[in-house]
Amino acid sequence: MDIQEIIALDKKYYMNTFGDRLPVAFEYGQQSTLYDKEGKAYIDFVAGIAVNVLGYGHPALVEAIISQAKKLIHCSNLFYIEAQAQLAKLLVENSCGDRVFFANSGAEANEGAIKLARKYFWDKGVNKYEIITAINSFHGRTLATLAATGQEKYQRPFVPMPPGFKSIPYNDLEALKSAITDTTCAIMLELIQGEGGVIEATYEYVKGVEQLCKEKGILLILDEVQTGMGRTGKLFAYQHFGIQPDIITLAKGLGGGVPIGAIIAKESAASAFEPGSHGSTFGGNPLACAAATAVITTLLNEGLIDRCAQLGEYFKQRLLYLKDKYPFIKDVRGKGLMLGMELDPSIPGKEIVKEALNHGYIINCAGHNTLRFVPPLVITQQEIDGLIDALEQIFTNTYR
Ligand SMILES: *Cc1c(COP(=O)(O)O)cnc(C)c1O
Repeated sequence: MDIQEIIALDKKYYMNTFGDRLPVAFEYGQQSTLYDKEGKAYIDFVAGIAVNVLGYGHPALVEAIISQAKKLIHCSNLFYIEAQAQLAKLLVENSCGDRVFFANSGAEANEGAIKLARKYFWDKGVNKYEIITAINSFHGRTLATLAATGQEKYQRPFVPMPPGFKSIPYNDLEALKSAITDTTCAIMLELIQGEGGVIEATYEYVKGVEQLCKEKGILLILDEVQTGMGRTGKLFAYQHFGIQPDIITLAKGLGGGVPIGAIIAKESAASAFEPGSHGSTFGGNPLACAAATAVITTLLNEGLIDRCAQLGEYFKQRLLYLKDKYPFIKDVRGKGLMLGMELDPSIPGKEIVKEALNHGYIINCAGHNTLRFVPPLVITQQEIDGLIDALEQIFTNTYR
């Protein structure tokens, strides 16, 4: 099929949730490069939205998937699963958590975290159920995670929202203090708002939130679906802050492209889940767990996380160079290889994305007209330089 035929099929048979997509269909990838059906190469700074942390065709990941697929793809959680137990151990050994539950996506991991927080207080016989989240956050598309997502535009057509959620301004500790009531059970936050436009929580805010949670006896849930898996230059973003969340959720990069989500929790919270409290048919199946184990061991063994911190610093300097040159670049933000460049509203970010694609670079535009860069962690300095050159050409030719 050529691209026009694929588009025609999509337009006829697929629900129109994604509107006019970028008119490219990829055939295969190697490292950080994707190739379309005509063989044109694209350097990927989106990575399936922070999913393909090892890029494309990484032998360790491909081998792990093939060898597990040959043995056993799926088996029910009615039985013990070796790959699942091993992955759980690996996550616990490398985080502040004690126990893990596996789901299939970010929304599902967050949904489970919400249930866990409520059950924790239910068991104590205390009437605490409300979860406070941040305005401009993103936690998923299921009804509960949509209610948690502090963006009314996503919620409006689907009212009534499930009750028990309240969103308040981000990075505003006073707002949080006054929002906490006797029914508050948890705060759920991203440490860098991803979909919202790569907006970082400040150090003081994060420290203050942890302190406040301790004082008030409420749970701290960190949604690390996007910031996790080495993306910010640490395995988990909370490790930049010297804090210990009660619950962490993961997905996106965890399986390197194979769908898997996870809840990691401290024992005190984790033990609220008892037989029958929660479950999943696919969650933690052998194939997904083998993939995620390969991703984590590769990140750790190949030093990709320190490399991400260093390359991210270099990348950020290059973006700041662009900011110095073009006054319509309002801000450069982010950590590690999760970076954003906010453009003046007069510059259409979505058009820049299309022009970059024509130049052979895949980027994306998130909230607040912010170009978002979340490449595979195997991206190279030369590839970053190539993107900067392409952006420079686009900006100079069209917008100056
Ligand atoms: C993408 C994302 C989600 C939702 O993940 P899905 O796998 O699409 O359900 C939740 N939280 C954050 C922070 C995300 O970036």
